[in-house]
Amino acid sequence: MARIYFIDVTNRDGVQTANLGLSKLEKTMINMYLNEMGVFQSEFGFPTTRHESFYLQANLELADIGVLQPIRLEGWIRAVAEDVEKAFKLVPNLEHLNLSISTSDQMIQGKFLGKKSREDIVTMMVDAVEAARAHGADSIGVNAEDASRTEIDYLIRFSLAAREHGAHRIRYCDTLGYDNPFTIYESVKTLAENVGMPIELHCHGDLGMAVANSVAGAKGAIDGGQDAYINTTINGIGERAGNADLVATVLAVTKSKGFAEKYRLKKPIDLTKAWKVSRFASYAFGVPIPINQPGVGANAFAHSSGIHADGVLKDPENYELYSFDEVGRGEPELVETGSEICSGEYSGTSGFRHIMGQMAVSFDDARQAEEILELARYANVASQRPLVEDELLFIAKYPKIAKKLLTLIPE
Ligand SMILES: [Zn+2]
Repeated sequence: MARIYFIDVTNRDGVQTANLGLSKLEKTMINMYLNEMGVFQSEFGFPTTRHESFYLQANLELADIGVLQPIRLEGWIRAVAEDVEKAFKLVPNLEHLNLSISTSDQMIQGKFLGKKSREDIVTMMVDAVEAARAHGADSIGVNAEDASRTEIDYLIRFSLAAREHGAHRIRYCDTLGYDNPFTIYESVKTLAENVGMPIELHCHGDLGMAVANSVAGAKGAIDGGQDAYINTTINGIGERAGNADLVATVLAVTKSKGFAEKYRLKKPIDLTKAWKVSRFASYAFGVPIPINQPGVGANAFAHSSGIHADGVLKDPENYELYSFDEVGRGEPELVETGSEICSGEYSGTSGFRHIMGQMAVSFDDARQAEEILELARYANVASQRPLVEDELLFIAKYPKIAKKLLTLIPE
């Protein structure tokens, strides 16, 4: 029986969102958290973008030493053979790639302005897949951008060509959030049946259906006999109205009426980390979590009206589908209301030792303390906000890797 996998694209779709971004350390923490949760793959960045090189290399080193394991780290590039060459030149030990190209007539005509035909698009994609294979890529996903506005017969032809040349998955991108659960189910099932390869669902929320479409698309892929790989972002942060929210989508496929009886995750996702991960992404992006966000919003387990409050007091299941501790809530959070020492780009040794001491981190000598502090200063330059405990602990534990990912050298 085919299964559901999760591929989180916060570090690609999330960071390319207008007005938002993450530092390289924040992106690294996202990878660490996704790995802790058991997410199958993180689309961890842009291998052809020079300022990503050290970050990507450093994260692959973390994978090599077993820290970022078993999560797969996959780079996203255009399906252009030259881009594949550039990606492997800048990030030689890349193993997993997604290659993206537009497939709808709207975009082929609207973006390439009549210079490319449908067949040219297939040729470009095939050349890129061949190039990735020549570099020994372990897994290759091909993204059909604007798949939901692509004629299905052409999409099948495009996907079959991808498969024939060695791609492992096709990404069905509902780039504009145009599908609804009924249409995406039909399209993806048809695609799965005709192409015979696993399908990724990449859904956007322009019409408020990103999560619903992801669930329906996954059902379509599995009913068509193929594994489904759902793309998500943390807190749904992504282009325009955003992507399918990771926590909400996991809740939807595991808790919604009858769904999980037939459509199962390949391996469980640990939602007890949801609260921590959502809060970190909110802090790092500088975007508050909506009060009514599934699972992690302030009101997700709040009840005030008489009938509801009475019902929950008698039995939470009267008005709650799942319990707060399943999504990692329930621990009281301490807020400092007195003197506070926090990290900053101009921090000094004494304050820094105090902060690290509170986390029970001690240093061998003054030189080591100064080395870690210097890295924390640079991380603060990039994030422009105090580092969280996990970031400081990461720097103290992996100073060499932290130094690498914090390094930015313009050409
Ligand atoms: Zn997207």
